[in-house]
Amino acid sequence: MGFVSEFVRRLARRDPGATVVSGNAPGVDRAAETEARAAGLGVVSLPADWDAHGKSAGFIRNGEVVRKCDAVAAFWDGNSKGTADTVGKAEIAGKPVSVWGPDGERIRGGTKGMRLHLLDSRHVRGCERCGLCRTRRSTVFGHGDPDARLVFVGEAPGHDEDESGIPFVGRAGHRLTKLIEGMGLSRDSVFVINVIKCRPPGNRDPEQDEVSACSPFLYRQLEIVSPDAMVALGACAARLLLGTDDGIGRLRGRFHDFHMPRSGAPIPLMPTYHPAYLLRSPSDAQKVESDLRKVAAKLSR
Ligand code: URA
Repeated sequence: MGFVSEFVRRLARRDPGATVVSGNAPGVDRAAETEARAAGLGVVSLPADWDAHGKSAGFIRNGEVVRKCDAVAAFWDGNSKGTADTVGKAEIAGKPVSVWGPDGERIRGGTKGMRLHLLDSRHVRGCERCGLCRTRRSTVFGHGDPDARLVFVGEAPGHDEDESGIPFVGRAGHRLTKLIEGMGLSRDSVFVINVIKCRPPGNRDPEQDEVSACSPFLYRQLEIVSPDAMVALGACAARLLLGTDDGIGRLRGRFHDFHMPRSGAPIPLMPTYHPAYLLRSPSDAQKVESDLRKVAAKLSR
């Protein structure tokens, strides 16, 4: 239950006058109350039959805040819809939200983070939709801030990503990080994903059936994060997202509309060269930097 103590200590440091509203889960909520009292924080314990008062009655009912609470800590078993509802309502009410997952891991991004977590744990990690499941070491879901305004879409994990389960951590990844920092952003503030989640053997190009099998995960991720702008890194991502066979040299340098698959909502997408290409052709770096300056300018409008 270390994550309970960690949350309460952090909350007490940030806001010594905070009140912890706890539900009725015997282990976690009782521990949160004990820790909160020890840290000198206020505690509001919901009654055992709190569900009878309506879900999330602890802090908001029918749009009214019915109990004062300063922040919501959700200790989530990875399934509970009630907890997800509670976090969602807290977000709507503008409360700071902290969520811990089933293994005590911190889940960034409130409900968006929870939805991404479910997609990864229930659908991506054990995926056997194509033959790459037989040779992969890990699935590489995506990484970054679920609330990001900007998403980068690459091609496929390589050796280092397959080992670590995190996208763009090898040499191309370091080049990407430098490009992101050149935009005045940090790697942590954006979301980075690939078209396919498993490494093709020997880093060959993904095959069409692998892209088709995996792209529903990408589309779902984009729906959840719902960014204000996107960058397609290289031809594989640009062609898939724009439904074209044009080369990256023709596509790059100007915004295109990516249409969200279900809502059809347009999102400005900038195709540019892949960072791995820049490692081989560094003289094209200025073109990529110029493309990314356009993206930074769009986000600052
Ligand atoms: N290239 C990609 O397209 N994605 C990665 O994650 C790493 C290298």
